[in-house]
Amino acid sequence: MNNDLSRRGFVKGVAAAGAGTAVARYARVAGWMAAGAAPAVLSAAEAKPALLGGTPARRGAFPAWPVYGAPEEEALRGVLRSGAWFRGAGKKVAEFEAAYAKLTGARHCIATANGTSALFGAMGALEIGPGDEVVLPPYTFIATLNVILLNYALPVFVDSDPATFQLDATKLDAALTERTTAIIPVHLGGNVADLDAILAAAGKRGVPVIEDACQAPLAEWRGRKVGTLGRTGCFSFQASKNLNSGEGGAVITDDDELAEKVYAFHNNNRARKVSGYNFSYRGTRGANLRLAEWQGAMLLAQMTRLEQQSKVREQNAQYLSSRLREIPGILPAQSYAGCTRNAYHLYMFRFDREKFGGGLTRAGFMKALSAEGVPCSSGYTPLNKEGFLKEVLASKAYRRIYPAAVLNEWEERNRCPANDRLCEEAVWLTHPMLLGPRSDMDEIVAAVRKIHTHAAQLAKA
Ligand SMILES: *Cc1c(COP(=O)(O)O)cnc(C)c1O
Repeated sequence: MNNDLSRRGFVKGVAAAGAGTAVARYARVAGWMAAGAAPAVLSAAEAKPALLGGTPARRGAFPAWPVYGAPEEEALRGVLRSGAWFRGAGKKVAEFEAAYAKLTGARHCIATANGTSALFGAMGALEIGPGDEVVLPPYTFIATLNVILLNYALPVFVDSDPATFQLDATKLDAALTERTTAIIPVHLGGNVADLDAILAAAGKRGVPVIEDACQAPLAEWRGRKVGTLGRTGCFSFQASKNLNSGEGGAVITDDDELAEKVYAFHNNNRARKVSGYNFSYRGTRGANLRLAEWQGAMLLAQMTRLEQQSKVREQNAQYLSSRLREIPGILPAQSYAGCTRNAYHLYMFRFDREKFGGGLTRAGFMKALSAEGVPCSSGYTPLNKEGFLKEVLASKAYRRIYPAAVLNEWEERNRCPANDRLCEEAVWLTHPMLLGPRSDMDEIVAAVRKIHTHAAQLAKA
């Protein structure tokens, strides 16, 4: 494992050497070797952008999501006709838990109502509460923050690494104090956070790591599925996610004791093997965070598609990155060297305005890209700067729990300048866009090339 100093040295090396240089911190970036599509793409670049009256680079729709068929219909009909609609009566949720534990290589899996309740259950079982500091990245879905606030813990943001869109683990150590009781790295976009560095920093202080793997089913770190490297891993099966049952979630862990606590927490404090009203209480606090049988059956059916879909996403995304990297100012998210599989929940890149040229802004670029038939989004805004968060920290409860000095210093302590810039440069494509044929990727590349060739005209349009 790299020590902190050599890691910092590498980061400086990356900055000095510029992007594209193979260094130990990030995975090597392969150029695309097939000779195939280049000429067609280059001539397409000369075509007139749709915004300037040309023909869109892409006219068809991208693949629809969710994907379903006979297995899902049978699964739902089976639960309907069984009359066993909740986990206490049926077996589908338990079957899914066993299958998901097997898939990830975890000893235990507890299915939950959604990803938020998976995180809430993990935190409840770890007894995180008022006065605790919990570390998270500022570049994440709001639920990662909400579960910290629900427990009246103090969120501590660690800046982002713009190269990967993940928490910058070189800045983690400085954020930890004797009050830190959990670190929640997020495997954002299906890419993987720098788990070597995060687990090392956490291990030194004995702080549990809760992996927020809600966007990263099947992603791997050094050949192991994410969610199994921390104390617990949390997943979401909400409709937009790579594995979905409309709503749904799961906590995985290898810790027997913790698994029973998560189970009890998600089942109103009741321990496993409930029979009639002869249940036993376990743990201190709890709620009903259970998954329904419909969802368990649905997840079992959707899981039969997951590996194949992930392979297609991976192949398309890698190809897309190799082609987009050839265009100045388009910087696809890199992975750390330890990331052996990326789940590509999002296809993320940075739009570097200076390098792209022509005076085109990100907003102008995105408008032109959408006009070419390639829908895109600017992604998250800085979570650490959200107005509602300031209100929570100024609330009666927080003022009662935390000394005034802690709350007054909070804003200064939680500045994330690299993330502020990342939020201004990011562009996202959604994962279903990666599920079609490779020619879809060529059309995306053609659209971006066209915009690059005509950037100056588009900037004036
Ligand atoms: C989706 C998501 C969650 C929450 O999951 P829900 O199922 O929507 O409650 C938490 N964290 C991240 C990073 C997510 O993407």
